[in-house]
Amino acid sequence: MGVSLVLFLNLENQIFILIVLAFSFSIFASVLAVKMQQLKMRVFELAFAIPLFLSVTAFLTATYNKSEATSLLILSHILLIVDCSFILLIPQDADILKLFAVVPFAFIGLGLYLSTPQIYSCLFAAMCFLVFVFLVINLVMLINNMFHNEKIHMAGHAGLFILASSAGLWLYQGFISSEVLILLALGYICCTYYVYKNTLSVFFREYQNSKESLKRMNASIHAEVIRRVEAIERSNRKLLEKAKTDSMTGLLIKSAIIEKLENILERSPRMNLSILMFDIDNFKQLNDSLGHQHGDLCIKTLTNLAKTSFRQDDIIGRYGGDEFIVILPDTPSVKAFIIADRFRELIQSKSNPSITISVGIASFPDDAKTPAALIEAADKALYTSKQKGRNTVTLYSALQGSPGSS
Ligand code: GH3
Ligand code: MG
Repeated sequence: MGVSLVLFLNLENQIFILIVLAFSFSIFASVLAVKMQQLKMRVFELAFAIPLFLSVTAFLTATYNKSEATSLLILSHILLIVDCSFILLIPQDADILKLFAVVPFAFIGLGLYLSTPQIYSCLFAAMCFLVFVFLVINLVMLINNMFHNEKIHMAGHAGLFILASSAGLWLYQGFISSEVLILLALGYICCTYYVYKNTLSVFFREYQNSKESLKRMNASIHAEVIRRVEAIERSNRKLLEKAKTDSMTGLLIKSAIIEKLENILERSPRMNLSILMFDIDNFKQLNDSLGHQHGDLCIKTLTNLAKTSFRQDDIIGRYGGDEFIVILPDTPSVKAFIIADRFRELIQSKSNPSITISVGIASFPDDAKTPAALIEAADKALYTSKQKGRNTVTLYSALQGSPGSS
């Protein structure tokens, strides 16, 4: 049915209608498709309702009145140029732009009224004049925009100028030539480009910008999260370290030093390692005679001397009360004995108020095979030192009944 209707028009008229329908529909549709656009662009797009509706009417009219259909086409063309030219000339924020939301529909009515054969025949001179006026206006505006480098409305004026040229050529030749069609297509392409540049392109740019700023925000949130997690981990580590150390001396507490010993023996089961356990002699008496504060001072002095006397790799811990433990990695019992005795002498000579210590030594793997057994052996050796009269060092291997004594 549609094809047979089209055949009532000649080929040029058919192409004309197709170009107008395709472009005007796509421009008109963007009023609804693109939200948040400027009023000026909206009314400009709305103006394309004129060629859209009038060319559809021309298409339907062509079945019974071919000349009226052609009149509708040329009128729709001219009315579009008039309406759009006014819109482009009006400043962006002018209230009068709102009026142009209804103008296209008034123009559609006007087009239908003027296209009746009796009226149309009187209109030729007026149409030629209108086309010429708007051709000149758009050309002037186009040149003006070029000189002032105002790219924003340039494509719009260029499109309307080309459309006016095609209308002028049509009126001059009296029929739709291929030149008219080329100019028509070019004019519509410019208008479509103008609409795209000021609506969808802006929308895409804003979308791109928001996407990028979202990406930046995400990255900075991610960095902030990482920074905070690291800070929490750091403070957790500090808390853990603090929980493992004795507040008075800063040395490892009993559970932490046992854990260290277990870790070392687990990692290096073939290592020759010795542990020293030492205890202040008659500390209760010192506390009783000089007071607890002096007692505390003694423990701190002893700690400082221990920290400066032992090697970097040796690990010192406070086993409890006045009892301490030192892990000596890579140290056989004989060497451990020399180290322990030198330390005992140092305490005797350097401590103030003067104290002495008793020391017990046990070595891995000769004296014990497990951390717990090693500590127990060192404790036994320490007990022996106390029994021997204090201020002395005892090797577990030298005790009667120890694995190394026989
Ligand atoms: P021994 O030679 O047999 O070791 O006799 P001792 O008096 O030192 O006896 P023991 O080691 O059993 O007693 C330890 C005392 O150390 C008991 C406690 O009052 C005291 N003490 C434990 N911790 C602290 C502390 O942090 N500060 C002070 N001032 N005294 C402590
Ligand atoms: Mg003691």
